[in-house]
Amino acid sequence: MNIIGIPALVGTYDNYIWVLHQSQNAWVVDPGESDQVIDFLYKNSLTLKGILITHAHHDHVNGIAALKTAFADAIVYGPADAQTAGVEIGLKEGDQLELTPNFELKVLETPGHTLDHLAYYNDNALFCGDTLFTAGCGRKFTGSYAQFADSILKLRQLDETTGFYCAHEYTLTNLKFAYLVEPENPALIERIRTTRIDYPQIHQGAQSTIAEENATNPFLRFDTPAIKAKLLQRGAVDTSESLFKTLRLWKDELDQSGELDHIDLTSLSVS
Ligand SMILES: [Zn+2]
Repeated sequence: MNIIGIPALVGTYDNYIWVLHQSQNAWVVDPGESDQVIDFLYKNSLTLKGILITHAHHDHVNGIAALKTAFADAIVYGPADAQTAGVEIGLKEGDQLELTPNFELKVLETPGHTLDHLAYYNDNALFCGDTLFTAGCGRKFTGSYAQFADSILKLRQLDETTGFYCAHEYTLTNLKFAYLVEPENPALIERIRTTRIDYPQIHQGAQSTIAEENATNPFLRFDTPAIKAKLLQRGAVDTSESLFKTLRLWKDELDQSGELDHIDLTSLSVS
């Protein structure tokens, strides 16, 4: 299976629309726009077979209607209660989608960012929408902090070699927050030193792996001794819910104040 990330809503939300294609068939994940996706499919003589939705926020679903106009036979899969957004077949935890005989995706329920958020995965790839980002995670909207923490713990257990595909390009800001939280983590320093973002170029292959996220993403590490100690100091109690919530609110606070903009990681980077 070939997997590429097509940039969408560049400059506002900086999304990726993931396109999976093999032979002449294609599937897309979270089309927040459509023109660039239709162009790509036509140019490569691909037929759209299916659209996979992680959750019904507009930057993930606004391209569905035009894609359906161009490819009427494409089936739209996603959270069962997202029918108004265009979802035709509702999915739940444990459901499986066979894209090709050797590429099947399993469905995980990962509530937190929204109440009805889904992730799709197999041994090669995880499409986690806005649950996790490279070096970060989504904001909490309609789900609860307890659900969000449980969803992250679920994703943390996936096979370490699984390729990581999230719905936004927020890596550099996320790395600044990660560095603030855990400046003593050598794997994180190495990630900062070597990360090169060429967004909005088309992204080839996975952004990261579960192993890399487990080693460097603070939202997958909220219960490691170093981070936990800082969160307890900030008023958390020793539960997944409270540790995660304290970490998420810390990031929200810095996002709002614009403070992360002033952190310069270039001294750590390879020039
Ligand atoms: Zn969202």
